[in-house]
Amino acid sequence: MKIIFLGTNGWYDTETGNTTCILIETEKYFIILDAGNGIYKIDQYIVETSRKPIYLFLSHFHLDHIAGLHILSKFKFSQEMIIYGQTGTKGILDRIINTPFTVPVTRLPFKVDIHELSEGLHYSPFPIECRFLLHSSPCMGYRFEVDDRVIAYCPDTGICENAVELSRDADLLITECSFNGGQTNKEWPHLNPEDAAHIAKEANAKKLALIHFDANRYKSLENRKQAEDKARKIFGNTFAAIDNLCMEI
Ligand SMILES: [Zn+2]
Ligand SMILES: [Zn+2]
Repeated sequence: MKIIFLGTNGWYDTETGNTTCILIETEKYFIILDAGNGIYKIDQYIVETSRKPIYLFLSHFHLDHIAGLHILSKFKFSQEMIIYGQTGTKGILDRIINTPFTVPVTRLPFKVDIHELSEGLHYSPFPIECRFLLHSSPCMGYRFEVDDRVIAYCPDTGICENAVELSRDADLLITECSFNGGQTNKEWPHLNPEDAAHIAKEANAKKLALIHFDANRYKSLENRKQAEDKARKIFGNTFAAIDNLCMEI
């Protein structure tokens, strides 16, 4: 499968990138992780002739993960988009993807369906495990099994057991890296590069991608390289993702 990092900033857009959005192309599906501003680029990869269903997974409702929802009216997909999120997602999206903020869901150029997922295991259309992470607002982490690969997605979170459980033996773990090396804040839990590496190591993941670099702390891509170096001392197979990076696993 192909993984394209379309938005790797946390909080706001800067010259280092857009806010969080990742596109995964599998044999049968397109999977999108969060709808930060990086989502405007999905039509470079999901062309109009494509028929694969599109699944968009929302972790939580902080604006750096949903601000791109107002860009949906740009796309002219022929297939349906199914949006998955935690309990309460339907009510929240009915308010946000609506007047006076943007074009209402019912008037988008393609069909959108919204499904709410509880914590636990689901099997539609592929195995999905959902667990709440440690964040200032309820944030759902995901684990998918598609094309014989396991992807774990642990966005906004502090260190917690659920992040480790979701990442257990994953082929690729994608975690946030909001804080600089050594930084912590109990009132506002996020990961620093060492925390992310410890989760990957404890979970026995195969590869770790760092994303969601806080725009106010990571002002240059060089800062991300420094985070990568720090994480690699603990978990060797780590890389700091940048916008438009494309990889195969
Ligand atoms: Zn965030
Ligand atoms: Zn958040």
